[in-house]
Amino acid sequence: MNKQENIASRRHGARGILYTVAAAVATVALLGPALATAGDKTSLGIPGVRGGVVATSEPAAARAGRAILEAGGNAIDAAAAVAFALNVVEPQSSGVGGGGFMIIYLAKQKETVVVDSRERTPAAGDANMFLDSNGDPFGFSIRSTSGIGVGVPGMVRGLELALDRWGTMSFDEVLGPAIDLAEKGFRVSKRLEESILSSRLDSEPGNPAYEVARDVFRPGGVPLQQNDLLVQPELAATLEKIADEGADAFYTGPIATAIVETQKNARTVADPNDQARLRGRMVLQDLSDYEAAIRDPVVGDYRGFRIVSMPPPSSGGLTVIQILKLIERFPIGDEEAGYGFGSKRTLNVMMEAMRLAFADRAVWMGDDDFVDVPSEGLLDDDYIALRSALIDPDARQNNVEADDPRPFEMAQFDADEVQLAMAGLPDEEGLNTTHFSIVDREGNIVTYTNTIESAWGTGLMVPGWGFLLNNELTDFNRVPTFNPDPDNFNPGANDAAAFKRPRSSMSPTLIFKGKKPLVALGSPGGSTIINSVTNVTMGLIDHVRNAQEAVDLPRISQTSANGSPSWEAGFDEDVIDELEGLGHNLSDSRLSVIGSVQLVAIDRKGKRQYGAGDRRRIGAVESLRRSNDNDDDED
Ligand code: GLU
Repeated sequence: MNKQENIASRRHGARGILYTVAAAVATVALLGPALATAGDKTSLGIPGVRGGVVATSEPAAARAGRAILEAGGNAIDAAAAVAFALNVVEPQSSGVGGGGFMIIYLAKQKETVVVDSRERTPAAGDANMFLDSNGDPFGFSIRSTSGIGVGVPGMVRGLELALDRWGTMSFDEVLGPAIDLAEKGFRVSKRLEESILSSRLDSEPGNPAYEVARDVFRPGGVPLQQNDLLVQPELAATLEKIADEGADAFYTGPIATAIVETQKNARTVADPNDQARLRGRMVLQDLSDYEAAIRDPVVGDYRGFRIVSMPPPSSGGLTVIQILKLIERFPIGDEEAGYGFGSKRTLNVMMEAMRLAFADRAVWMGDDDFVDVPSEGLLDDDYIALRSALIDPDARQNNVEADDPRPFEMAQFDADEVQLAMAGLPDEEGLNTTHFSIVDREGNIVTYTNTIESAWGTGLMVPGWGFLLNNELTDFNRVPTFNPDPDNFNPGANDAAAFKRPRSSMSPTLIFKGKKPLVALGSPGGSTIINSVTNVTMGLIDHVRNAQEAVDLPRISQTSANGSPSWEAGFDEDVIDELEGLGHNLSDSRLSVIGSVQLVAIDRKGKRQYGAGDRRRIGAVESLRRSNDNDDDED
C-alpha cells in the first residue's frame, strides 16, 4: 500500500469509503484559458480537467485536497483537509492557532457565501492595549511576539461551520491526511528550511516559552534542513483530538487551558508594569464564546466581469474593487494609446489608483460589526468618478489624501464640511499567510486565505499541543485614532476593542462573467495581498493572459497614500526610470517578491477546470481527471 492509500484507509477504511490515489501524482500547473477566450482550449492546447483542481502553496497539502476530492468529498471538504495539512507542512504561515477568510461558491444554489474565521480580541481588550505605561506604543517586534498580540483563534470554528453547512464529510474524515503528515512526518522543503532560519524564531534564547517552537524546528539547537524528516506528534495529538471530539475539543478543555496559559507569556522588558501589560488578556470564556461569522461578499463590476470579494473586517474586497474601478476609465489593454502591460502609463495609473484606495482604506475600513464602514459610498460610481478624476496618466500626484465617501451612501449622510484627520500609520502587517483555491467536479469553489499573521505568528507554541499562536491583533492601529471632532474627524475604524476583529487585507476573490464563476484567486502578503489580486485580475482581464501567465507576470504594489511602491523584476528598466522621473520611488531597494497567488479557473461552459500555482513560493496544483475528459465539450 502506498503512502496516500495508507492515509485513505486509516481514516476512511472504517466508513467503507474506498478510493485510491495515484502513487506519484505529478505537480502540474494547468494553464487556464484567458478570460476573453474562455471556452476554448488554452492557447497552448492544454485541455483542462473536469474532476476538480486544487491549487495551494505546498504539494503535500494539494495532495491532501486531491485525496479528499477523490474520496468523493466536495470543495468544502477538500478545503478543510488542505487547511489542516498546511498547518503541518507550512506551519510558519497558518494553522489552528490562527484564522482566515473563506469564500464559497455553491454550484447548485448558484450562491456565494463568506465564512469569516478571523481572530477576535479578548473581552478584556481595548483601544489602548498596545500602549506601555507611559502611553507610548510597544515596538512591533515586542508586541508581535508577546501574548498581547494573540487574537482568539478562529480556524477550527470556521471549518466546523463550513463543513456543517456545506460539506459532506466530518472532521474525522478530512483530518486524515493532516494527521498522517504530522504523525509520520514529511520532508522539509527548501522554503521551510529558510523560514526556520528566520529571526522570528530567535526570541529570547533560554526563555522556555520561546523554546517550545525551537525544540520542534531547531531540535538540539540545530535548524532542520531541506529533506530532513519533520515529525510533529504533539500537533498530531491536537488534530486527533479535533477529529475525535470536534471543534469543542479545541475551544474548551485541556487545549483551551493550554492556549490561555501560553498567551500569558511575553517578551522580557525592564518595567514590571509594562511586563504585565504585554501579557495576553484571553481567558477560557473568550475561547468558548468564539463564533465564526457568515457574511455577504462585496461585489463590483470591472469591464463586464463581476468581482466578488472579501467584506469587512477585511479591507481586501473593498480596496481591490475600488482600485479596479478607479482604473476602469483608462484603456489599459490598448498599446497604441500608450498603455498595454508594463507601460509607463499603465503602471502609473495602477500606482496612483492604489494610493487613492489605500488612503481611503486607512481611514474608513475596519470591523463593521463595530464601526460604520461606508462600503456603498466607497464603491459608488459618483465617488469613484470624483476620485479617479485625480489620476493623470502622465503625472504623479504630489500628495494623496482620503476623501469622505459618506455623502455617497444610499442613506445620504449630511457631511457639510467634515475635515479628515490623516491616519498615516505605518503598515505593519506581516508577510506570511497562505492562500489556496479549489474547484470540485460539481463546480463548487472555495477560495481561502488563512494566517497566523507574521511568519511563525508570535513564536509562542502551545506546549504539548504543537501549534503556534497568532499575532493577529497587531493588525489593529497600535495607537487609537478615533476623533469625533468634525474639524479633525477620524472614525477609528481599526482601533482595537473587546471582541472586535482586526482589519485584514486578505482578499479571497471570485471573478464571474454573468452568473458564471470563471476564476477563484487570492494571495498572502500583508497589505500587498490587495495589489497581488489586482495585478493578476488585470493580467486576466486587461492583458488577456491565461491563468498561469497572469500569475507569472511581474507585479507592482503601493500600500499607502504617500509611501514608496514595491515592484518585481521583469518590467522594462527604461519604464522604471521614466516612472522614477515622475516621482515614484522605484529604486532597486524597492525590488521585491510580491505575493503568492494560487488560482483555479473554469471555462465559460463550466466544464473544463484549470489551476495555476505561484512559483514565487512552491506553488502546487493537483487535478483530477474524469473518464470523459477527452470527450468533446458538447457532451
Ligand atoms: N494579517 C494579515 C492580514 O490579515 C495577513 C498577513 C499576511 O498576509 O502576511 O491581512
